[in-house]
Amino acid sequence: MELEHLWQSTLSEVELQISRPNFLTWLKNSRLTHKQDGVVFVSLPNNFAKEWVENKYNKIILSVLRNFDESTKKIEYVVENKNSSGHSATHTKQKSSDSFDIKFQQSFAELKVDPETNLNPRYTLKSFVVGSSNELAHAAATAVIKDVGKKYNPLFIYGGVGLGKTHLIQAVGNEIKKEYNNKIKVKYVSSEKFTNDVIWSIKNKRTEDLKEKYRLTDVLIIDDIQFIGGKAATEEEFFHTFNSLYENNKQIIISSDRPPRFIPTLEERLRSRFEGGMIADIGFPDYELRMAILKTKLQNRGANLSDNVIDVIASKVQKNLRELEGVLNKILFVQTTKNVELSAKQAEEIINESFQQPVKNVSSTQVIKAVADYFEVDINSLTGRCRKNSVAEPRQIAMYLLRELLGMSYPSIGEKLGKRDHTTAIYAYNKLSAEIEKDQNLNQKIIAIKDIINKE
Ligand code: ADP
Ligand code: MG
Repeated sequence: MELEHLWQSTLSEVELQISRPNFLTWLKNSRLTHKQDGVVFVSLPNNFAKEWVENKYNKIILSVLRNFDESTKKIEYVVENKNSSGHSATHTKQKSSDSFDIKFQQSFAELKVDPETNLNPRYTLKSFVVGSSNELAHAAATAVIKDVGKKYNPLFIYGGVGLGKTHLIQAVGNEIKKEYNNKIKVKYVSSEKFTNDVIWSIKNKRTEDLKEKYRLTDVLIIDDIQFIGGKAATEEEFFHTFNSLYENNKQIIISSDRPPRFIPTLEERLRSRFEGGMIADIGFPDYELRMAILKTKLQNRGANLSDNVIDVIASKVQKNLRELEGVLNKILFVQTTKNVELSAKQAEEIINESFQQPVKNVSSTQVIKAVADYFEVDINSLTGRCRKNSVAEPRQIAMYLLRELLGMSYPSIGEKLGKRDHTTAIYAYNKLSAEIEKDQNLNQKIIAIKDIINKE
């Protein structure tokens, strides 16, 4: 296997096993320079990175490398010589993508996910607007904060897509952290992440580390548990972790898109455990809640829309608060660009446009082609394993759009775009969904690409 390809494949595996910010900080600028007598030489930008990677990631990297190339005996890390000629050539070529790259890293800083707890501080109880559809879940969440591990254990929150589950359970974690001065250890994990951790630890015979990692926590929050069902090893591990936490009065908080009895593959013993705690659902928001959320978001942003426009949005977007926010963003965006106050009619047109599902007849190939056209990149580099910075953004946007417009499953998105793991697709989708809110530039790109798709 060619060296560059070998290293790229290795990196994409490693990326899944260490946290994304760590990956970007330590490994993104690494290169496999050469290989000699089974020793693989990897260059890193500075001494600090060299020590860090050597101490923390060597084991993981080596085991992944060996998977691809059995003849690998060890890795030698070297500090890259900036003046080496072959190198600068690759860098100048990617000038235009560098600015994106910087933005990309900054946006991670903005997301500010706490590396200890995995919680995003933007989710607070204060910013969670309560209405009749979520008041039970909210009350249960508040009770858990007051009486961690004792009253409602586990707390099981379920409801449809975009109704506020992640927001609420992360808010509980953030409040507990704040209220108890970090004395109570909180950990938030998506069920994909949990599943990946389990699979990895079994494969690498490191299940003890895994147990420790999860069992030493006081509050374990697992998002979208429905994805765990049916994976025997994961379920088994989850069950043990669950029992051990439960018996020690540690708090468990779970979200799901449906109640436990409707997760078909969930083992009976897990199901009855879940049912032994507090189960609360979040339903569709009524008009009042939708209005209240829109007004709060406008206020938080210091933005203004006329009452008529707010009313149109609240009336037309009914079933998904993420969409509600998306429409709000789009309308604010148009208003700012045009620099006039939008009328209710104009707002309605914008909403109709966003919900006009031209996409029904659109194929994934068309979406990918539109992205490639817009960014002027080669379709093959989007759908291949190319790791060039210049295709990183286009590929993430393509992932986002395949999900957003076609509702494609994450595994098939990953497969289509470079045979990547489904977690990469999930990651891209979540990241872009969050960024679109804040980044007008990105928002504009997406709108432009959708236009290309519509015109085809
Ligand atoms: P889910 O996890 O159920 O799919 P999320 O928690 O991701 O949904 O919510 C989708 C979006 O709607 C998020 O941006 C979230 O902050 C917002 N949201 C949901 N419920 C509320 C609420 N009650 N008040 C304010 N914002 C909310
Ligand atoms: Mg969620």
